[in-house]
Amino acid sequence: MSDQCIICQKEVPDYEPEMCCSGQECACLGRPIEPCVCSQECDKAAHDYIGLPFDERRKRAGIKLNGGIEKLEVKDDSSERNLFTG
Ligand SMILES: [Zn+2]
Ligand SMILES: [Zn+2]
Repeated sequence: MSDQCIICQKEVPDYEPEMCCSGQECACLGRPIEPCVCSQECDKAAHDYIGLPFDERRKRAGIKLNGGIEKLEVKDDSSERNLFTG
């Protein structure tokens, strides 16, 4: 069983959907309990931005299409100090 990550659309070869039941007379509607995600990052994005389209969640989390994290620009190495001074 393989599927694609709902966030970045990367193949997830070892995804095994955990089903609640067949969906009859149940609120789960026969859908997997856990969404198919390829990584912890995508899993986090899926849960952090509930209500937004998956593509939007991916962008907000800085995840590239097909996996990988966008390189966020690091301005300097003393950023912690700047937060609390001034
Ligand atoms: Zn992913
Ligand atoms: Zn069910």
